[in-house]
Amino acid sequence: MIASRTPPASGKTGRSVPLLILGSLLTVVAIVCIVTFLLIREHANAQESATRSATTIAQLIDADVLRTVELYDLTLQGLIAAAQREDLKHVSPQIRHMALFDRSTAARFKGDILLLDKHGEVVADSSRVEPKPGNFADRDYFLAHAFNRDAGLFISRPFKTRCDCEEADQWRISFSRRMSSDTGEFIGVAVASMKLDYFDQLFNSLDIGVDSTLNIISSDGLLLAQKPYLQSDSIGKSFANRPNVIRILGDSGGNGSFNSISSMDRRQRLYTYSRVGNLPLTVIVALSSDAVFGAWQRTAILISGATGVLCAGLLWLTWLLARELRLRHQAERELAQLAATDALTGVANRRLLDQSLRHEWFRAQRSGKPLSVLMIDADRFKAFNDRHGHQAGDRALQELARVVSANVRRPADLVARYGGEEFSVILAETDSAGARQIAEHIRAAVEQLPRMDGDEAPMTVSIGVSTWTTAMDLSLEQLLFTADKALYQAKEGGRNRVVVA
Ligand code: GH3
Ligand code: MG
Ligand code: MG
Repeated sequence: MIASRTPPASGKTGRSVPLLILGSLLTVVAIVCIVTFLLIREHANAQESATRSATTIAQLIDADVLRTVELYDLTLQGLIAAAQREDLKHVSPQIRHMALFDRSTAARFKGDILLLDKHGEVVADSSRVEPKPGNFADRDYFLAHAFNRDAGLFISRPFKTRCDCEEADQWRISFSRRMSSDTGEFIGVAVASMKLDYFDQLFNSLDIGVDSTLNIISSDGLLLAQKPYLQSDSIGKSFANRPNVIRILGDSGGNGSFNSISSMDRRQRLYTYSRVGNLPLTVIVALSSDAVFGAWQRTAILISGATGVLCAGLLWLTWLLARELRLRHQAERELAQLAATDALTGVANRRLLDQSLRHEWFRAQRSGKPLSVLMIDADRFKAFNDRHGHQAGDRALQELARVVSANVRRPADLVARYGGEEFSVILAETDSAGARQIAEHIRAAVEQLPRMDGDEAPMTVSIGVSTWTTAMDLSLEQLLFTADKALYQAKEGGRNRVVVA
C-alpha cells in the first residue's frame, strides 16, 4: 500500500489479550494459594487430632502406672511401719510374717517383697516365713537409700532376679523406701519388685495401630517397656543419647509432642510424651506418620492433581482464547484497512478521506492551527486514455498516486483518491505557503515522469490549494469548494499549474 494512513483500529482487542492473560494467571495463583492454605490447615488438623488421641492414651497409661506405683508404695510403707513396731518383735515368726506383709497383696505383677537390714542382709521375705539368706548391699536402690535419707520412693534400674527359679529370666524393677531410726539413722531398706510384664499387659489393652509404638523410659533414658519391640533385647538398655530421647527428657515441662524420625527403625513418627506424675518415668506414644497423615496425603495428592489439571486447563483455554482474539484483531485490522483503501492506487479511498477530513477539521478548530487541502486533477486524461488505452491509464493513475504520496511525508497528512483521475491531500497544521510548496513539488514531480511512447508532452496535473486559518470564517464544505474553485482556475489558466485560493 502506498503512503496513506491506516484507519484507526479499535484498541479494545489490543488491551484485552494482556488483561485476559493477567486475569487467568491471577486466578491460577489464587486457586493454588487457596488449595495450599486448605491443605496446610488439614495437615495441622490431622496432627492435632492424632496428638489428642495420643495424649489420651498417654494419660490412660499414666493413671494406671500411678495407681500401681501407689499400691507398691503403700505396701512398702505398711512393711516399714510394721517392722518398727516393738510388740511384733515378741510374737511368733508366722504372726510376725503375716503382720509385716499384711498390706502387700493388692499389687499386680508383684515379685518378692524384702526387708533388708543396714548391711543389706535379708531380714524378712514376703514369699517365705524363714527368709532365704542373701545380701543386696550392692544394688542401686540400697546404695541410694544408704547415702541419701531423702531418696523417698526409689525406682531401680531394670534387673533380673538372682534366683535359679523359672522366673529368673523375667525383667523386673523394684520400688524401695529407706527405714530410718527415730534419730534418722539408716537402719535398712524395704523393697518390692515388680515384673515388667505389667507394662506389656497394660499396653496390650490399648490399640494404637500398625507401625506405632508405646514406650516407657526412666529419667536416665533406660527403656522399661515397649510395644511392639522394635529391637530384641532393648529392655534395660539406655537410649539416653538418642536425639528424640534427649529432646523428651530435656523438656522440663514433661509433656509435649513433635514429629521426628525414629533412630531405631528410621521411620517418621509423631511423638507425644507425658511424665508419670512426679515419678522418674515418661510415657512415649509414637504414632506412625503413615497412619496419622496417610488420609491427608491421599487427599493432598488427589486435590493437588485436580488443581493442577484445572489450572492447566484454564491456562490452555486462556491461550486458545488469546490466540483467537489476536487473529480476530488482525483480521479486523486487515478488513478496516481494505475498507479504507482505494483498490487501484492503494491510497486512502473517499470514505477514509471524508472521515479524516472531519477529524482534522475539528482538530484544527480546537488547536487553532491552519489546515490545507489540495485538489489534484490529471490534465486531459480522457485524451490519454484514448491514446494509450484504459490499462495504460490505470498504470498512469497508480504512478500518479505514488508520486503524490512520495511528496507527502508527515504522519498526520493523508493522500486519497477523490474519484476518477482526481486526488485529494489533507495537510494538517500546514499554512497556505507550505501547502503551495508541497503542491508545487507534486506538480513538478509529475511533469518529470517518463513520457509514454508517442507522446510529445509529459503527463501533467493541475492543483487547487485552499487553507483554513483562524482568521477566516469558513466551513469545511466551503474549504473544499474553494479548493475546487482554485483547481478550476488552474485548468482555466492553462493547466499544469498550482492555484492557491
Ligand atoms: P481536464 O484536463 O479538463 O481534466 O480533462 P480530462 O480529460 O482529464 O477530464 P474529463 O473529466 O473530461 O475526463 C476524465 C477522464 O478520466 C475520463 C476517464 O476516461 C478517465 N478516467 C477516470 N477514472 C479512470 C480510471 O479509473 N481509469 C482510467 N484509465 N481512466 C479513468
Ligand atoms: Mg477530472
Ligand atoms: Mg482531468
